[in-house]
Amino acid sequence: MKCFCGNSAVTMNVDGVPCCSKHKSKKIPAPLCPECGLKMDIRKSKYGIFWGCIAFPSCNGTKKI
Ligand SMILES: [Zn+2]
Ligand SMILES: [Zn+2]
Repeated sequence: MKCFCGNSAVTMNVDGVPCCSKHKSKKIPAPLCPECGLKMDIRKSKYGIFWGCIAFPSCNGTKKI
């Protein structure tokens, strides 16, 4: 697992996302939806965590974290 900055992840941040020690108290900057351009939110499923479009369910845009 890697932190969003590219360093190897050693812990979890406030959202439960794997991250390096430098970013453990930070929220990951939300990317924009590849489908509609709106912001994305962290979603949790049984398969793990991922970015999901805030316009869900009208937009099904997702991204890997
Ligand atoms: Zn980091
Ligand atoms: Zn979207």
